[in-house]
Amino acid sequence: MYDLCIIGGGAAGLSCAITAGRLGLKTLLIDKNNKLGKKLYATGNGRCNLTNMNFDSKVHFNSSATAYNYFIDSALSNSYSKKTPNQQIIEFMSSLGINTMEDNGYVYPSSAQASSVVWAMLDAIKSYDINVVQNEEVLSISGKYPEFTIKCKNEAFNAARIVLANGGAAYKSLGGSTSGYQIAKSLGHSVISQRPSLCGICVKECLDAVAGVRANAQIKLLDNNSTVVQTSKGELQITKQGVSGICIFELSSKAGRLLEEGINPILDISFIHSEDNKKYNQILKSIDNISDCNRTTIGFLNGYVNDKLAAYICDTNNISGKSMVSELNKTQLTNLVESLYSLKLHITSLYDMEQAQVTAGGVNINEINPKTMESLKVPGLYITGELLDIDGICGGYNLTFAILTGIKAGKSINDKNKSD
Ligand SMILES: Cc1cc2nc3c(=O)[nH]c(=O)nc-3n(C[C@H](O)[C@H](O)[C@H](O)COP(=O)(O)OP(=O)(O)OC[C@H]3O[C@@H](n4cnc5c(N)ncnc54)[C@H](O)[C@@H]3O)c2cc1C
Repeated sequence: MYDLCIIGGGAAGLSCAITAGRLGLKTLLIDKNNKLGKKLYATGNGRCNLTNMNFDSKVHFNSSATAYNYFIDSALSNSYSKKTPNQQIIEFMSSLGINTMEDNGYVYPSSAQASSVVWAMLDAIKSYDINVVQNEEVLSISGKYPEFTIKCKNEAFNAARIVLANGGAAYKSLGGSTSGYQIAKSLGHSVISQRPSLCGICVKECLDAVAGVRANAQIKLLDNNSTVVQTSKGELQITKQGVSGICIFELSSKAGRLLEEGINPILDISFIHSEDNKKYNQILKSIDNISDCNRTTIGFLNGYVNDKLAAYICDTNNISGKSMVSELNKTQLTNLVESLYSLKLHITSLYDMEQAQVTAGGVNINEINPKTMESLKVPGLYITGELLDIDGICGGYNLTFAILTGIKAGKSINDKNKSD
């Protein structure tokens, strides 16, 4: 009989197994993939963005629970030391022999290879009393503390405690599945409906003519009252489906929530790099000079944006790109400048789960003790990582959450074991 059985060998499950193994617990780790840490290899474009030096839970995480700031702060704090989440991640990596480096606040392994993180974790797993079962999907869990039965397709196991580290539904090809939600539900937990997050956004407008264009942009996510819900900036990637890129990923969680509430949000995109209206007014003023000179409308717009985007702006304003700027009236010119400064795209949906990096929604965090990650409904059951109704923005927040909640579950089980 095992002290604990961890279901899922991703970031949370591996961190939990290493922690439990170090503390001398008899541990079973089960994963349905043929490879442990399969998703980890693909993180951070193969570089694995482990954490972030600019941590602020209020800004970087989303959940449908109102008290989620308390939950995250508590789940990511370390009762043994006062270390911040990023320090804890760097320290844990260092204990595995992984040095880290920082790039604009983003923390990566110094090797710049996600594989180095997975291999170090797997080497650690081999050093302890951890039985690893791969290629086996856990189908159900029955019983209760101190004897749960874990049923897989071909085998069954017994353990005193269970850690669910099944991850979310995103990116099925890398292990994403809904099985964790089903198991949690079968054990009595409520589960918030899931939707893709950190993904591209589909829009009503036809963007075929500009597909493939990349442009630096400042973007506002507006609700149907034109209230700014969130802002972001960076490289916007236009596709046939809609818009993508990290700046869009960051807006996707809130956009998904608005859609779920029946609101059709809008992306308000500025291709002019200015925090205020100064540049806008400058462009408007310069129109008089431009209209004196011999430029086509598309040429004028191409002074600010990619030529395909310039043509798109002409089309959406019903102005021929070939017409001379001097031929346009003031209203037409103002509309063109307005499009550079505030191009509106109407959100219809998000890209699908297979193209999302993270799942929003999941096991209701009100039913979990964030100090231990133990279920408040089922003693002896621990729930960690992306399976919970918490999703972070880009920048290492999701791995930080998965790794630290995995470690926390391992430590809490050891504390409970000692006090039993
Ligand atoms: C392409 C991509 C890039 C990303 N880059 C970053 C990044 O750079 N930084 C960052 O912070 N986040 C990143 N993320 C998000 C991050 O990888 C995840 O949030 C994190 O891996 C979640 O960890 P987890 O352990 O909870 O789940 P997972 O890593 O998904 O692991 C869950 C594991 O459970 C297994 N499993 C599920 N159900 C069962 C079952 N019933 N029986 C047995 N096994 C089961 C799965 O096979 C899987 O191995 C990225 C995600 C993707 C898809």
